[in-house]
Amino acid sequence: MLVAKFGGTSVGSAERFIATADVIATRLDQPLVVVVSAMSRTTSALIEGARAAADGRVGLYQQVHAELESRHLATVEALLEPSSERDQLIGTIQEQLASYGRLCASIATLGEFTMRGNDAVASIGEQLSSRILAAFLRARGIASEAISATEIVETDDEHGSATPDMAATRRKATARLGPLLATGVVPVVTGYIGSTAAGVTTTLGRGGSDYSAAVLGVVLDADTVEIWTDVNGILTADPKLVPEATVLRELSYEEAAELAYFGADVLHPKTVAPLAERGIRLSILNSYAPEDPGTAVVTMPSPDRAIAPAILSTEGLCLIRLSGNGRGWTVQMASRALHRLAEAGVDVLMFAQSFTERSLNLLVRASDEQHGLRLLTREFEHDARAGLLADIATRQQVASVSVVGMPRERAPEVTSCAFAALGALRQRVIAVAQAASGGSISFILPDQDVARVVPYVHSQLGL
Ligand code: ADP
Ligand code: ASP
Ligand code: MG
Repeated sequence: MLVAKFGGTSVGSAERFIATADVIATRLDQPLVVVVSAMSRTTSALIEGARAAADGRVGLYQQVHAELESRHLATVEALLEPSSERDQLIGTIQEQLASYGRLCASIATLGEFTMRGNDAVASIGEQLSSRILAAFLRARGIASEAISATEIVETDDEHGSATPDMAATRRKATARLGPLLATGVVPVVTGYIGSTAAGVTTTLGRGGSDYSAAVLGVVLDADTVEIWTDVNGILTADPKLVPEATVLRELSYEEAAELAYFGADVLHPKTVAPLAERGIRLSILNSYAPEDPGTAVVTMPSPDRAIAPAILSTEGLCLIRLSGNGRGWTVQMASRALHRLAEAGVDVLMFAQSFTERSLNLLVRASDEQHGLRLLTREFEHDARAGLLADIATRQQVASVSVVGMPRERAPEVTSCAFAALGALRQRVIAVAQAASGGSISFILPDQDVARVVPYVHSQLGL
């Protein structure tokens, strides 16, 4: 049993749908479930239009509506001969996008965009791409049916980053997909989305289709999950920043999880753990070069595989800095800050405390900045009034650059080489954190410096 997930760039145009269908045609010798993302750039456009609506800028969502409609219809017309089925598909696309228009109109009226509303609009992209792919497979003679994951992936109600209930999802997936698989029909399931037990649409987080594929892989007891994307697997750096980056051909689950966590966008960080638990094989493959072997993530990587550290970056982060006042700052205050944020679901990606300066730097995603700041301001209200806390401030537009997966015996050499490279660039480093194992080190820098730092560190490390 195989679960194959195709990302946005693998369904970004009619040509890409054709390449994806070609790959699917080579995978029919076993039961197959396809998971698909929205056409590239669709989800971001849907969300941007809705956010603008909340600010009263109604022109933007109308423009998004029109552009997405013409792009999806042009794709359908390029893929399918005129037929009643094609007319029906066109009608469904128009109807889905009309519902987007209605949602944005009510968001504009209310002047409020909740995460529940976010999920309602953001989920539309996958509803379109899954139907187009299933219809195109049928036109190519492959029995196929588009399935909305709202019917199978049951989640909690944490809109924007919902967590699937694996037991409920297993029941629903078996009931809904089992009969299709038994009769050789290829289900094309929407990635990224799910629904609560009460039937409200949720999303699993941006880039979450990879996670959807892992969840389906687990509940369907798949042997393998394939992630089809636009690069030859997981590389030693983002090839958009470092064209000469090389592919890591074989990784352990721990290594892959670490690379995903530190910013290898090619894999959503939540994808690896559920597969690792069951030893389900994970492959990252290129739909532009299907013959390339890609990256294999396995339980027991071969001892003589080539291993190299990777240089990863995540932009769009924010530092929240709490500054103590004189002797008032205690380690308990740091622990309260971390506890408060964890309790409210704000991920602290990294933190650094300076005892002499009596300050604490907390690295969070830009999307968590305002929420985190409000929580901490409330938490430390009394301390501030008592003069124990001087200031809570944020520094926006920072990025992490991490050297990850250092072979243990080379860790000291790699670390000092990374520091030397930053020194040679006269790079301003805002904060540093090293894994206790010595296997990774992260530097916090201004966002704008990532594009020069990553290629330079990569070349200095001889990758
Ligand atoms: P998809 O639409 O297939 O989900 P994504 O855009 O989410 O694709 O992920 C693929 C992209 O991840 C690549 O195009 C690449 O620019 C980026 N990326 C960042 N770091 C890495 C890395 N270390 N290895 C491979 N790709 C990376
Ligand atoms: N379409 C969603 C996004 O853009 C999910 C995904 O691509 O994995 O975030
Ligand atoms: Mg992705």
